[in-house]
Amino acid sequence: MSNNVKDMHICIAGSGMGGLACALSLARQGFTKISVYEYASSLGFVGAGIQLAPNMARILDRLNVWSPIQAEAVDLKDTSIRQGSSDAELANVKLDYVKQTYGYPHMVGHRSSLAGEMYKGCKEEEASIKFYFSHAVQKVDAWTPKVSFQVKPRDAEAFDVECDILLAADGVKSNIRDQMLELLNIDAKVVDSGQAAYRIMLKREDMEHDPELLELIDCERATRWIGERRHIIAYPVSNNTIYNLSTAQPDANFAAAPSATYTTKGSKKEMLEVYSDFCPKVQKMLNMVPEGEVCEWKLRVHAPLPTWVHGNMALVGDACHPTLPHLAQGAAQAIEDGAVLGVVLSKLPDTSAESINKALKVYQELRKARAEGLVALAAANGREMHLGDGAAKEARDAAFKAIREGREGAKVPDRWADADVQKMIYGYDCWSDAEVQFDALFAAA
Ligand SMILES: Cc1cc2nc3c(=O)[nH]c(=O)nc-3n(C[C@H](O)[C@H](O)[C@H](O)COP(=O)(O)OP(=O)(O)OC[C@H]3O[C@@H](n4cnc5c(N)ncnc54)[C@H](O)[C@@H]3O)c2cc1C
Repeated sequence: MSNNVKDMHICIAGSGMGGLACALSLARQGFTKISVYEYASSLGFVGAGIQLAPNMARILDRLNVWSPIQAEAVDLKDTSIRQGSSDAELANVKLDYVKQTYGYPHMVGHRSSLAGEMYKGCKEEEASIKFYFSHAVQKVDAWTPKVSFQVKPRDAEAFDVECDILLAADGVKSNIRDQMLELLNIDAKVVDSGQAAYRIMLKREDMEHDPELLELIDCERATRWIGERRHIIAYPVSNNTIYNLSTAQPDANFAAAPSATYTTKGSKKEMLEVYSDFCPKVQKMLNMVPEGEVCEWKLRVHAPLPTWVHGNMALVGDACHPTLPHLAQGAAQAIEDGAVLGVVLSKLPDTSAESINKALKVYQELRKARAEGLVALAAANGREMHLGDGAAKEARDAAFKAIREGREGAKVPDRWADADVQKMIYGYDCWSDAEVQFDALFAAA
């Protein structure tokens, strides 16, 4: 075995946001043998928007891929939270202070731009990163001192791979996580959250003839329409050429939809029924979705795991902290994971299995509480936005009123727009923290 840490063979399962961030961050730190196995035949991201929060942008900038993403993203100036049924504004919160305070604006973009630019960054590191699409990681046979596992190419026989470190960025349905949990006799199965999301992208040419809709796609604003057990968040992306809507509602196909897939084809009729009491402006947009093109995501979660690390393997992203979209932080946290892994592995003193396991535990120590805290906060924000009539909703709406009236110390009930929450999320620099804390945490691991 080579004693050069940067020559270790590191395998990554999955090339979603977490897998791409790991590969890019490791290559930028100088690692030379990185293999990425992806089950799908290509990056294959569904057409959907994504919020690019400053804590995500800061990392992408250090990885040298932020400029092209930023060039076509939209810089949010404010967010408007509205009553879904009446379109009445509950609160308007300015976001233009974010760049000055945290160094990066709060932007929104296209998923394919985010993933595509991270992938391009990886291609610049072609000598160090090899991608294997249509390759599924299957059974893990050994977890330490080397990791060995089986890989099944789509049209060929399975083969064995041996490596120094395995990063399981294989998403919310991670089979590597399930194998680890079974081995350790831990029960933390993935459960449906009972919520589903429709993801919609409307084209500018379909909206521009209607002044009310043109105003939406032309402004730099995220609008959230809320109602009992449902909401819609919407914003323009791709230089204001596309209007992105992402919904959350009870999963009507809870029992029927296959659990093996991330997305199902939704029914337009059902979608219109779910939002039938929302205002005409929203109805108009939902009606514009072509028949047969309703894309529905089941939202899945699981209980916090007792560990993310076993031997020389660590879980990453949705595989260990699936986050409901209500705080727009799932991908940002997967990217933070990748950045921190790049730092801690580059600081390894040697290539022994003991050191690798300790470094992976440092990664867990730096990441777990933060990511799981945000998982809980995202779930709580969903509950708050989805309140039905009663005392809790009255208190929430009074808090919105306090914001409208500009009352000192008022807190925004929609937590992602609250300044203190933003400070906690955007103000934390995970990369620098890992640099600063590594030695002490490694010694204690
Ligand atoms: C409706 C909605 C809106 C969202 N909005 C935002 C937002 O605005 N901002 C934000 O930061 N986050 C958002 N998120 C969350 C974000 O999308 C996820 O947290 C993020 O994509 C997770 O990345 P990941 O790499 O961990 O997993 P994934 O993106 O799921 O990637 C996992 C990859 O692993 C592959 N794979 C699976 N099994 C195997 C295997 N056995 N072998 C090889 N490959 C395998 C899959 O094909 C996939 O490509 C949202 C999520 C939803 C559902």
